[in-house]
Amino acid sequence: MTSAKRGRVFSGARPTGRQHLGNYLGAIKNYVTLQDEYDCVYCIVDLHALTTVDTTENLRQNTYEMALDWLAAGIRPVESIIFVQSHVPEVAELHLILSMVTPLGKLTDLPTFKEKVRQQPHNVNYGLVGYPVLMSADILLYKANLVPVGVDQEPHIEFAREVVRSFNYRYNTSVLIEPQMKATEFPKVLGIDGQQKMSKSLNNHIELASTPQETTERVMQMVTDPQRIRRSDPGNPDVCNVFSLHKIFSSPEEVEMVNVECRRAGIGCVDCKKLLARNMNAHLEPFRARRAEIGQDPGTVQDVLQDGKRRAQAIASQTIAEVKDAVGLA
Ligand code: SF4
Repeated sequence: MTSAKRGRVFSGARPTGRQHLGNYLGAIKNYVTLQDEYDCVYCIVDLHALTTVDTTENLRQNTYEMALDWLAAGIRPVESIIFVQSHVPEVAELHLILSMVTPLGKLTDLPTFKEKVRQQPHNVNYGLVGYPVLMSADILLYKANLVPVGVDQEPHIEFAREVVRSFNYRYNTSVLIEPQMKATEFPKVLGIDGQQKMSKSLNNHIELASTPQETTERVMQMVTDPQRIRRSDPGNPDVCNVFSLHKIFSSPEEVEMVNVECRRAGIGCVDCKKLLARNMNAHLEPFRARRAEIGQDPGTVQDVLQDGKRRAQAIASQTIAEVKDAVGLA
Protein backbone atom coordinates (compact mmCIF):
# COMPACT_ATOMS: atom_id res chain seq x y z
CA MET A 1 0.00 0.00 0.00
CA THR A 2 1.52 3.33 -0.97
CA SER A 3 0.33 6.34 0.87
CA ALA A 4 1.30 9.77 2.11
CA LYS A 5 -0.48 9.09 5.35
CA ARG A 6 1.18 8.99 8.75
CA GLY A 7 1.23 5.25 9.33
CA ARG A 8 -1.00 2.21 9.50
CA VAL A 9 -3.72 1.78 12.06
CA PHE A 10 -5.20 -1.60 12.89
CA SER A 11 -8.33 -2.16 14.89
CA GLY A 12 -10.58 -5.17 15.28
CA ALA A 13 -14.07 -5.61 16.64
CA ARG A 14 -16.14 -8.71 17.25
CA PRO A 15 -19.09 -9.32 14.96
CA THR A 16 -21.90 -8.21 17.21
CA GLY A 17 -24.42 -7.52 14.46
CA ARG A 18 -26.30 -4.26 14.21
CA GLN A 19 -24.33 -1.60 16.00
CA HIS A 20 -25.71 0.60 18.74
CA LEU A 21 -25.02 4.12 19.91
CA GLY A 22 -22.36 2.89 22.32
CA ASN A 23 -20.47 1.21 19.47
CA TYR A 24 -20.82 4.31 17.33
CA LEU A 25 -19.76 6.91 19.88
CA GLY A 26 -17.15 4.64 21.46
CA ALA A 27 -15.41 3.31 18.36
CA ILE A 28 -16.91 3.73 14.89
CA LYS A 29 -16.87 7.53 14.96
CA ASN A 30 -13.18 7.37 15.76
CA TYR A 31 -12.58 4.82 12.98
CA VAL A 32 -14.09 7.28 10.51
CA THR A 33 -11.92 10.18 11.70
CA LEU A 34 -8.68 8.18 11.68
CA GLN A 35 -9.03 7.59 7.95
CA ASP A 36 -8.10 11.20 7.27
CA GLU A 37 -4.60 10.74 8.66
CA TYR A 38 -3.79 7.04 8.56
CA ASP A 39 -4.01 3.97 6.39
CA CYS A 40 -6.62 2.04 8.28
CA VAL A 41 -7.16 -1.68 8.50
CA TYR A 42 -10.46 -2.54 10.15
CA CYS A 43 -11.13 -6.16 10.91
CA ILE A 44 -14.23 -8.00 11.99
CA VAL A 45 -12.65 -10.52 14.33
CA ASP A 46 -14.91 -13.52 13.96
CA LEU A 47 -12.27 -16.00 15.19
CA HIS A 48 -12.01 -14.09 18.45
CA ALA A 49 -15.75 -14.41 18.84
CA LEU A 50 -15.42 -18.21 18.95
CA THR A 51 -13.67 -18.02 22.32
CA THR A 52 -16.81 -16.85 24.07
CA VAL A 53 -19.90 -17.62 22.00
CA ASP A 54 -21.94 -20.74 22.61
CA THR A 55 -23.52 -20.77 19.19
CA THR A 56 -22.32 -19.50 15.84
CA GLU A 57 -25.64 -19.57 14.01
CA ASN A 58 -25.77 -15.75 13.78
CA LEU A 59 -22.11 -15.23 13.02
CA ARG A 60 -22.47 -14.63 9.27
CA GLN A 61 -25.47 -12.37 9.62
CA ASN A 62 -23.81 -10.43 12.45
CA THR A 63 -20.71 -9.96 10.33
CA TYR A 64 -22.79 -8.65 7.44
CA GLU A 65 -24.83 -6.27 9.61
CA MET A 66 -21.74 -4.91 11.29
CA ALA A 67 -19.94 -4.27 8.01
CA LEU A 68 -23.05 -2.58 6.66
CA ASP A 69 -23.18 -0.28 9.69
CA TRP A 70 -19.49 0.56 9.34
CA LEU A 71 -19.98 1.53 5.70
CA ALA A 72 -23.11 3.53 6.42
CA ALA A 73 -21.30 5.35 9.24
CA GLY A 74 -18.59 6.54 6.86
CA ILE A 75 -15.78 4.00 6.74
CA ARG A 76 -14.49 4.39 3.20
CA PRO A 77 -13.67 1.02 1.64
CA VAL A 78 -11.59 2.43 -1.20
CA GLU A 79 -9.17 4.03 1.27
CA SER A 80 -9.45 1.66 4.21
CA ILE A 81 -9.29 -2.10 4.31
CA ILE A 82 -12.40 -3.66 5.79
CA PHE A 83 -12.24 -7.42 6.06
CA VAL A 84 -13.14 -10.48 8.10
CA GLN A 85 -10.43 -12.04 10.24
CA SER A 86 -11.08 -15.64 9.20
CA HIS A 87 -10.89 -14.74 5.50
CA VAL A 88 -7.14 -14.33 5.85
CA PRO A 89 -5.97 -17.61 7.40
CA GLU A 90 -2.38 -16.40 7.69
CA VAL A 91 -3.42 -14.95 11.05
CA ALA A 92 -3.85 -18.46 12.43
CA GLU A 93 -0.40 -19.39 11.18
CA LEU A 94 1.22 -16.36 12.81
CA HIS A 95 -0.75 -17.01 15.99
CA LEU A 96 0.73 -20.48 16.19
CA ILE A 97 4.28 -19.31 15.54
CA LEU A 98 3.97 -16.49 18.10
CA SER A 99 2.56 -18.90 20.67
CA MET A 100 5.97 -20.62 20.69
CA VAL A 101 7.63 -17.50 22.09
CA THR A 102 4.90 -16.78 24.64
CA PRO A 103 5.25 -18.21 28.17
CA LEU A 104 2.03 -19.88 29.28
CA GLY A 105 2.28 -18.36 32.76
CA LYS A 106 2.20 -14.90 31.27
CA LEU A 107 -1.09 -15.63 29.59
CA THR A 108 -2.76 -17.21 32.59
CA ASP A 109 -1.63 -14.31 34.79
CA LEU A 110 -3.35 -11.69 32.66
CA PRO A 111 -6.26 -10.01 34.48
CA THR A 112 -8.40 -10.27 31.34
CA PHE A 113 -7.98 -14.05 31.30
CA LYS A 114 -8.85 -14.34 34.99
CA GLU A 115 -11.92 -12.21 34.40
CA LYS A 116 -13.07 -14.44 31.55
CA VAL A 117 -12.58 -17.54 33.70
CA ARG A 118 -14.81 -15.93 36.29
CA GLN A 119 -17.42 -15.02 33.67
CA GLN A 120 -17.55 -18.37 31.88
CA PRO A 121 -16.19 -21.11 34.16
CA HIS A 122 -18.04 -23.69 32.01
CA ASN A 123 -16.04 -22.72 28.92
CA VAL A 124 -12.38 -22.10 29.74
CA ASN A 125 -11.06 -23.16 26.36
CA TYR A 126 -7.55 -23.20 24.95
CA GLY A 127 -8.41 -20.33 22.61
CA LEU A 128 -9.33 -18.17 25.56
CA VAL A 129 -5.84 -18.54 27.02
CA GLY A 130 -4.23 -17.69 23.68
CA TYR A 131 -6.55 -14.79 22.97
CA PRO A 132 -3.87 -12.09 23.48
CA VAL A 133 -1.54 -13.98 21.15
CA LEU A 134 -4.18 -13.99 18.43
CA MET A 135 -4.75 -10.32 19.05
CA SER A 136 -1.02 -9.69 18.70
CA ALA A 137 -0.99 -11.72 15.49
CA ASP A 138 -3.77 -9.51 14.10
CA ILE A 139 -1.77 -6.37 14.71
CA LEU A 140 1.63 -7.72 13.69
CA LEU A 141 0.47 -9.50 10.54
CA TYR A 142 -0.60 -6.17 9.06
CA LYS A 143 2.50 -4.36 10.33
CA ALA A 144 0.39 -1.75 12.05
CA ASN A 145 2.28 1.10 13.69
CA LEU A 146 -0.66 2.24 15.70
CA VAL A 147 -3.54 0.67 17.53
CA PRO A 148 -6.28 2.97 18.80
CA VAL A 149 -7.19 1.86 22.30
CA GLY A 150 -8.48 3.35 25.50
CA VAL A 151 -5.95 3.76 28.30
CA ASP A 152 -7.37 0.70 30.08
CA GLN A 153 -6.34 -1.42 27.09
CA GLU A 154 -2.69 -0.44 27.31
CA PRO A 155 -1.59 -3.83 28.78
CA HIS A 156 -2.78 -5.56 25.60
CA ILE A 157 -0.59 -3.40 23.42
CA GLU A 158 2.33 -3.84 25.80
CA PHE A 159 1.77 -7.59 25.53
CA ALA A 160 1.99 -7.39 21.73
CA ARG A 161 5.18 -5.35 22.03
CA GLU A 162 6.71 -7.98 24.31
CA VAL A 163 5.79 -10.68 21.82
CA VAL A 164 7.59 -8.74 19.11
CA ARG A 165 10.70 -8.38 21.26
CA SER A 166 10.68 -12.08 22.17
CA PHE A 167 10.23 -13.14 18.56
CA ASN A 168 12.79 -10.76 17.11
CA TYR A 169 15.31 -11.71 19.81
CA ARG A 170 14.74 -15.46 19.51
CA TYR A 171 15.12 -15.44 15.75
CA ASN A 172 17.62 -12.61 15.52
CA THR A 173 15.47 -10.57 13.20
CA SER A 174 13.65 -7.25 12.99
CA VAL A 175 10.82 -8.53 10.86
CA LEU A 176 8.06 -7.74 13.35
CA ILE A 177 7.32 -4.14 14.28
CA GLU A 178 6.47 -3.02 17.81
CA PRO A 179 3.09 -1.31 17.57
CA GLN A 180 2.43 1.91 19.42
CA MET A 181 -0.69 2.63 21.31
CA LYS A 182 -2.73 5.51 19.98
CA ALA A 183 -4.35 6.63 23.19
CA THR A 184 -7.89 7.48 22.37
CA GLU A 185 -10.81 8.79 24.36
CA PHE A 186 -13.54 6.21 24.18
CA PRO A 187 -16.50 7.80 25.89
CA LYS A 188 -18.40 5.35 28.04
CA VAL A 189 -21.97 5.45 26.83
CA LEU A 190 -24.52 4.29 29.35
CA GLY A 191 -27.55 2.28 28.33
CA ILE A 192 -31.16 3.31 28.71
CA ASP A 193 -31.06 1.95 32.26
CA GLY A 194 -28.73 4.86 33.07
CA GLN A 195 -26.55 2.48 35.10
CA GLN A 196 -24.53 0.15 32.94
CA LYS A 197 -22.51 0.52 29.77
CA MET A 198 -24.69 0.28 26.68
CA SER A 199 -24.68 -3.32 25.55
CA LYS A 200 -26.78 -5.57 23.40
CA SER A 201 -26.53 -8.43 25.90
CA LEU A 202 -28.03 -6.19 28.60
CA ASN A 203 -30.77 -5.06 26.21
CA ASN A 204 -30.21 -1.46 27.27
CA HIS A 205 -29.08 -0.33 23.82
CA ILE A 206 -30.37 1.88 21.02
CA GLU A 207 -29.51 0.51 17.59
CA LEU A 208 -28.26 2.92 14.95
CA ALA A 209 -30.45 1.26 12.35
CA SER A 210 -33.66 1.41 14.39
CA THR A 211 -36.58 3.28 12.86
CA PRO A 212 -37.33 6.77 14.20
CA GLN A 213 -40.33 5.31 16.05
CA GLU A 214 -38.27 2.57 17.67
CA THR A 215 -35.61 5.09 18.66
CA THR A 216 -38.20 7.37 20.22
CA GLU A 217 -39.70 4.46 22.15
CA ARG A 218 -36.28 3.54 23.54
CA VAL A 219 -35.53 7.12 24.52
CA MET A 220 -38.90 7.40 26.27
CA GLN A 221 -37.95 4.32 28.34
CA MET A 222 -34.72 5.93 29.57
CA VAL A 223 -34.16 6.12 33.30
CA THR A 224 -33.72 9.73 34.45
CA ASP A 225 -32.71 11.39 37.72
CA PRO A 226 -34.09 8.87 40.26
CA GLN A 227 -34.74 11.67 42.78
CA ARG A 228 -37.13 13.39 40.41
CA ILE A 229 -40.41 11.63 41.16
CA ARG A 230 -43.01 14.25 40.22
CA ARG A 231 -43.10 16.73 37.37
CA SER A 232 -42.92 19.54 39.93
CA ASP A 233 -39.69 18.18 41.52
CA PRO A 234 -36.51 19.95 40.43
CA GLY A 235 -34.11 17.54 38.72
CA ASN A 236 -30.37 17.17 38.49
CA PRO A 237 -29.18 16.78 34.90
CA ASP A 238 -25.69 15.91 36.08
CA VAL A 239 -26.90 12.46 37.15
CA CYS A 240 -29.22 11.92 34.19
CA ASN A 241 -28.20 9.96 31.11
CA VAL A 242 -30.78 11.79 29.01
CA PHE A 243 -28.80 14.95 29.64
CA SER A 244 -25.52 13.18 28.74
CA LEU A 245 -26.99 12.30 25.37
CA HIS A 246 -28.38 15.80 24.89
CA LYS A 247 -24.78 16.99 25.08
CA ILE A 248 -24.00 14.81 22.07
CA PHE A 249 -27.11 15.21 19.94
CA SER A 250 -28.63 18.60 20.85
CA SER A 251 -27.57 22.15 20.09
CA PRO A 252 -25.62 24.12 22.73
CA GLU A 253 -28.71 26.30 23.26
CA GLU A 254 -30.90 23.27 23.90
CA VAL A 255 -28.33 21.75 26.25
CA GLU A 256 -28.23 24.98 28.21
CA MET A 257 -32.01 25.21 28.28
CA VAL A 258 -32.32 21.65 29.67
CA ASN A 259 -29.55 22.33 32.17
CA VAL A 260 -31.37 25.37 33.52
CA GLU A 261 -34.99 24.27 33.20
CA CYS A 262 -34.51 20.79 34.65
CA ARG A 263 -33.08 22.26 37.84
CA ARG A 264 -36.12 24.44 38.39
CA ALA A 265 -38.70 21.95 37.13
CA GLY A 266 -39.33 24.16 34.13
CA ILE A 267 -39.23 21.17 31.78
CA GLY A 268 -40.65 17.71 32.40
CA CYS A 269 -38.78 14.52 31.62
CA VAL A 270 -41.29 13.53 28.94
CA ASP A 271 -40.69 16.73 26.97
CA CYS A 272 -36.97 16.53 27.61
CA LYS A 273 -36.87 13.01 26.17
CA LYS A 274 -39.03 13.95 23.19
CA LEU A 275 -36.55 16.70 22.36
CA LEU A 276 -33.66 14.26 22.63
CA ALA A 277 -35.40 11.66 20.46
CA ARG A 278 -36.10 14.29 17.80
CA ASN A 279 -32.49 15.43 17.72
CA MET A 280 -31.14 11.89 17.79
CA ASN A 281 -33.35 10.90 14.88
CA ALA A 282 -32.26 13.95 12.90
CA HIS A 283 -28.63 13.06 13.58
CA LEU A 284 -29.10 9.44 12.52
CA GLU A 285 -31.15 10.21 9.43
CA PRO A 286 -28.19 10.39 6.97
CA PHE A 287 -26.80 7.16 8.44
CA ARG A 288 -30.11 5.38 7.96
CA ALA A 289 -30.46 6.65 4.40
CA ARG A 290 -26.96 5.41 3.51
CA ARG A 291 -27.62 2.09 5.22
CA ALA A 292 -30.82 1.58 3.26
CA GLU A 293 -29.09 2.49 0.02
CA ILE A 294 -26.10 0.19 0.54
CA GLY A 295 -28.29 -2.58 1.91
CA GLN A 296 -30.47 -2.64 -1.22
CA ASP A 297 -27.90 -4.92 -2.75
CA PRO A 298 -26.37 -7.31 -0.19
CA GLY A 299 -23.68 -8.00 -2.79
CA THR A 300 -22.22 -4.56 -2.09
CA VAL A 301 -21.11 -5.51 1.41
CA GLN A 302 -19.83 -8.87 0.19
CA ASP A 303 -17.83 -7.13 -2.53
CA VAL A 304 -16.29 -4.76 0.02
CA LEU A 305 -15.31 -7.66 2.28
CA GLN A 306 -13.95 -9.59 -0.67
CA ASP A 307 -11.84 -6.65 -1.81
CA GLY A 308 -10.72 -6.12 1.81
CA LYS A 309 -9.68 -9.75 2.00
CA ARG A 310 -7.62 -9.42 -1.18
CA ARG A 311 -5.82 -6.31 0.05
CA ALA A 312 -5.33 -7.63 3.59
CA GLN A 313 -3.99 -10.89 2.26
CA ALA A 314 -1.43 -9.09 0.09
CA ILE A 315 0.09 -7.64 3.28
CA ALA A 316 -0.39 -10.81 5.32
CA SER A 317 1.24 -13.18 2.84
CA GLN A 318 4.28 -10.94 2.64
CA THR A 319 4.60 -10.78 6.43
CA ILE A 320 4.13 -14.51 6.93
CA ALA A 321 6.78 -15.24 4.29
CA GLU A 322 9.22 -12.99 6.13
CA VAL A 323 8.34 -14.57 9.48
CA LYS A 324 8.84 -18.11 8.17
CA ASP A 325 12.11 -17.11 6.63
CA ALA A 326 13.27 -15.60 9.94
CA VAL A 327 12.23 -18.72 11.86
CA GLY A 328 13.97 -20.97 9.35
CA LEU A 329 10.93 -22.90 8.23
CA ALA A 330 11.38 -24.52 4.87
S1 SF4 B 1 -35.66 16.94 32.66
FE1 SF4 B 1 -34.28 15.89 31.31
S2 SF4 B 1 -32.27 16.11 32.24
FE2 SF4 B 1 -33.80 16.58 33.79
S3 SF4 B 1 -34.09 14.63 34.89
FE3 SF4 B 1 -35.68 14.80 33.29
S4 SF4 B 1 -34.81 13.76 31.55
FE4 SF4 B 1 -33.15 14.18 32.94
